[in-house]
Amino acid sequence: MIHEILPVGMLQCNCSVFGDEQSREAIVVDPGDEIASVLGIVARHGLTVKAIVITHAHIDHIGGAQKLKQATGAPVYMNLKDAELQKMMPVQAQWLGMPAPEAVAIDVAANDGDKLLVGATEVRVLHTPGHTQGSISLWIPSERKLLAGDTLFRGSIGRTDLPGGDGRQILRSIRDRLLPLPPETVVIPGHGENTTIGEEKESNPFL
Ligand SMILES: [Zn+2]
Repeated sequence: MIHEILPVGMLQCNCSVFGDEQSREAIVVDPGDEIASVLGIVARHGLTVKAIVITHAHIDHIGGAQKLKQATGAPVYMNLKDAELQKMMPVQAQWLGMPAPEAVAIDVAANDGDKLLVGATEVRVLHTPGHTQGSISLWIPSERKLLAGDTLFRGSIGRTDLPGGDGRQILRSIRDRLLPLPPETVVIPGHGENTTIGEEKESNPFL
């Protein structure tokens, strides 16, 4: 499987491009910004984007979604519990002192247990609320990889002091949904370096 991680934008959100070598189908996760670079990766591998997946409706994760949708025609997936937060995009832009990005219409609701296919590779949606109410993580069993959005970081967890945040809920999400995954699972957080489930289980001071 092709997997490229590109930190994008002011907050360096980890945008992931997953591509299937045979079918050349791809998904892009969290295209927060720098869509020209994202499209460069897609073109370099000769991929066709079939879905754009948003782990949660924070501006640094969703900001470039409309540009990418326009360029690729791919539908946008997001959990609709973040719809309210998505409406706050101009406010979120103010927090960062940047102009509000073009709004994007969500085409497909990403719900817990949903499965996307990238070629023959299954990508499972886990609803992991707490950082926001609609936060999802993506689990790719055959690759032993987890895209954790802003739920779990290397040595840390997502902040819960923003609208829709809940400190007890994020711990419950991590304990019930993420830590039971195989310890060798590589975690790609929404920001910063990769880690593994085993490493976080042993040494994350927040858990
Ligand atoms: Zn966030």
